[in-house]
Amino acid sequence: MSDNYLHMVPDDPYWRPDRTAAEEAANIVRGLFPQADHVGIEYKEAVTFFDAGANTESIHCAFCGSDLEDWWGDSMDQAAASDFSNLTVVTPCCGKSTSLNDLRYVWPAAFGTCALLVVNPGATSLGADQLRRIEQAIGSPLKLIWQHL
Ligand SMILES: [Zn+2]
Repeated sequence: MSDNYLHMVPDDPYWRPDRTAAEEAANIVRGLFPQADHVGIEYKEAVTFFDAGANTESIHCAFCGSDLEDWWGDSMDQAAASDFSNLTVVTPCCGKSTSLNDLRYVWPAAFGTCALLVVNPGATSLGADQLRRIEQAIGSPLKLIWQHL
């Protein structure tokens, strides 16, 4: 049986919520996904890449839409060598300065040092109102990363 994970990752890859805010947000998430196997908060030692697993289809330039998959692998290796302390890149297609976090990932992926985690959420979407409640509790906009393994 395969597993599905939902990671909710703060917009800013280097931002962390305080424990109280994160707990409050996790409680809201528990209420929204009553069938989930597990809901919790993951704190990472360093910036981590949360990807879509088997859902990942492609990676594109957010400016011109070029397919960046080949270039992306090398850029990730370079950034990983310094624990993703610097995500700045220049796109090979149109020469624009951006962040690895701001490329167009299909499905969505994000960098972060912490995430709200839902294991086997039992749902495949989250309403905008519900997301806003979680964001208000944790104190940051969140990116939703649906991962299928
Ligand atoms: Zn481009």
